[in-house]
Amino acid sequence: MSKSATLYNRLALIGVGLIGSSIARAARAQGAARSIVATARSPQTRRRVVELGLADQVVESNAAAVEGADLVILCIPVGVCGTVAKEIAPHLALGATISDVGSVKNSVVRDMAPHLPKTVHFVPAHPVAGTEYSGPDAGFAELFVNRWCILTPPKGTDAKAADKLAAFWRLLGANVETMGPEHHDLVLAITSHLPHLIAYTIVGTADELQTVTRSEVLKFSAGGFRDFTRIAASDPTMWRDVFLANKDAVLEMLGRFNEDVSALTKAIRKGDGDALFEQFTRTRAIRKGIVDIGQDSPTPDFGRSHPDLPHTPLPKPYAGED
Ligand code: NAP
Repeated sequence: MSKSATLYNRLALIGVGLIGSSIARAARAQGAARSIVATARSPQTRRRVVELGLADQVVESNAAAVEGADLVILCIPVGVCGTVAKEIAPHLALGATISDVGSVKNSVVRDMAPHLPKTVHFVPAHPVAGTEYSGPDAGFAELFVNRWCILTPPKGTDAKAADKLAAFWRLLGANVETMGPEHHDLVLAITSHLPHLIAYTIVGTADELQTVTRSEVLKFSAGGFRDFTRIAASDPTMWRDVFLANKDAVLEMLGRFNEDVSALTKAIRKGDGDALFEQFTRTRAIRKGIVDIGQDSPTPDFGRSHPDLPHTPLPKPYAGED
């Protein structure tokens, strides 16, 4: 990545896990902010952020982190965004932009907005990129390259502040789209939240099987199961919060999913090969569409852009969970 124009003077990151540390690495690589200040909940994580040299300054409290920052990004589980907004509100600099990276947007807007003073610009965001790994070691600067970042600014948000945050995400490599928080939550319920729920379920079901031993499940996992285990390894805190926060949209999509599973169940029971063939042909075309627009690689089981995993260089980084 080459250095380009500085957009913000002081970027404050609250939470330095997979997403926060990837923002720190990418923002630094791109020179997107003159300085980066970071904090995390535990002393261990703060120490690790210092060791990794991810920020210019690492402070002990959320309040201290936001002092003098013109961009503040909450990179923490969605369930604590409201509490942290309340905590930092009195310390925010005049005219600062406050954002987040939460995978659910309606609840984040509901929980954060009431605490924020009118003197700041609130522009919620969701980078649709991730892996099943957590913590400051898991991040990498290319995580957002060619991935979408969805902004959900509430009505009346200063357009200049929203445009500047969009420019920040573009600088980190992302494509930016703006939509309402409710719409975001509905779209992500089917593209991200339901797939995670299915993965968590199927891995749990396999684990409980009496007739198939655990070692057989692991041994023959390449038959499709392995991809589910990767998704089902995603952070339990983050995903607990996502399902609690996006309850309505997830239940709506789950209802539709259950109807479709019933239809396929019936087709299998009746030996209706045509129905199965038609469905599988339709879904194959969807996969091709995703590959065609560059959101995944056609290569089978390709390596990922994670520092701990051996991988061959890819045109685009892996973006799995979000
Ligand atoms: P993560 O790796 O588990 O990191 C979470 C960070 O938040 C940690 O540094 C943690 O500190 C800190 N934290 C938790 N509670 C805090 C609090 N009350 N005050 C200050 N810091 C706190 O999580 P992540 O995967 O980066 O996810 C962060 C956010 O990004 C979530 O809202 C998630 O929905 C969203 N997101 C995730 C992905 C993904 O694939 N993972 C993709 C897109 C968006 P400690 O380490 O000290 O506990």
